[in-house]
This record gives sequence, structure tokens and C-alpha cells, in this order.
Amino acid sequence: MADELPGDREVLEVHTTGSTTYRLERVSCGKNCKGCPHGPYWYGYWREGGKTRSKYIGKNLPTTQVKKV
Ligand SMILES: [Zn+2]
Repeated sequence: MADELPGDREVLEVHTTGSTTYRLERVSCGKNCKGCPHGPYWYGYWREGGKTRSKYIGKNLPTTQVKKV
């Protein structure tokens, strides 16, 4: 699962496009936070220079990124 990531994340959906993986995640930061769980929000993950990079996308994944099956 997502055990390489900080916090408590639940992955609801995954889309892979080329070298980028998009994940719809619900995040619980858990530190006296009244807003948990957050999201779900989309994040993009890709490999760059041997490291996993990530980018916050938002509530909606741009449809250009997704091929509907
Ligand atoms: Zn929180």
C-alpha cells in the first residue's frame, strides 16, 4: 500500500498514465486536527533521478490525464 508515505493515507483510486501514477487519497494527519480525514484529493507520483516525486493535483483529476476504461 502507501507505507512509504507519511501520515495515514487511504488510497481510493489509482490511474497510471505513462510514467506518472495518479492516486486519489484520503489523508488523516491525526494531530489534534478537526478536519480529518482530508480529501479525497488527487496526487501525482513519478520517478525522477532515482527518487519518487509527488505533486498535489486537487479534488479533480484533469480528464486529459485519464483514459476512461
Ligand atoms: Zn487533519
